[in-house]
Amino acid sequence: MSTQFDLHSHSTASDGSLSPTELIHQAHQAGVDVLALTDHDSTEGLDEARQAARGCNMGFIPGIELSVMWGGQTIHIVGLRLDEHNEALQQGLLGMRRFRDWRAEEMGRRLEQHGIHGVFEDARTRAGGSIISRTHFAQVLVERGLAKDTQQVFKRFLRSGKPGYVKGEWASLEEGMGWLLAAGAEPVLAHPARYKMTMTKLRKLTQAFIELGGVALEVVSGSHSRDDIYKIAQLCRQTKLWASVGSDYHGPHSPWIQLGRLPPLPDDCKPVWQRW
Ligand code: AMP
Ligand code: MN
Ligand code: MN
Ligand code: MN
Repeated sequence: MSTQFDLHSHSTASDGSLSPTELIHQAHQAGVDVLALTDHDSTEGLDEARQAARGCNMGFIPGIELSVMWGGQTIHIVGLRLDEHNEALQQGLLGMRRFRDWRAEEMGRRLEQHGIHGVFEDARTRAGGSIISRTHFAQVLVERGLAKDTQQVFKRFLRSGKPGYVKGEWASLEEGMGWLLAAGAEPVLAHPARYKMTMTKLRKLTQAFIELGGVALEVVSGSHSRDDIYKIAQLCRQTKLWASVGSDYHGPHSPWIQLGRLPPLPDDCKPVWQRW
């Protein structure tokens, strides 16, 4: 059987629900041979995951999923095979963390004005010292019975135009790509179909990404439909970028995405791991 790669996943170091060790064990059981841990804007889980992977003889890729701004919109760039000790990267991440902390407090204030109290404190407790993400807010609101699941919370409270929304003020695409390249990472444009862009705009983004040193498109993603995969595979061939595959697994609490259950890359897509 061919080697199973899953190059996009989250742990409790960001908004996943499994610890890095639990995540590795679950991936191992699910038949994944090589897993990349790519927490949002943090490398804190990598050491633990690396050790756990060594323990069960599984391939491990140190990664990250960076939030950046392009054209007024938040875009996610996965960085694979990075050196997490790189100074430029860590300085950048420190700034991201400061913004996240401020944004979380601001989200809390806005929800207070909406009559929902103490959510910031509860979300911070849930985050347990790691970065605070909108996912933590969503979990608190579900627990309080204000929505039936996290997707509904996003729709009602946390999306653009909703009471708890605070606009992202992440680093620019250019700056973020600079940190990734400084850390020796291979930048992958995460889940390109999720940005709801027209094909023209997505081509523009891809062009900017290439000019800044981008390496691959995430063609197969847990959040892509069959049509999305087809569309992004085509873009991948046209731009001659490499192709990546990642579940974007966040843990068993989000059952719509599973580890090691990904469709294969379409023909003619060059798997990014052929570079390694
Ligand atoms: P943040 O980086 O703090 O803005 O949080 C973004 C995260 O929220 C994403 O990585 C997803 O894990 C989660 N998320 C975004 N939109 C939704 C949604 N509609 N339903 C559930 N989770 C979502
Ligand atoms: Mn997430
Ligand atoms: Mn993402
Ligand atoms: Mn992700």
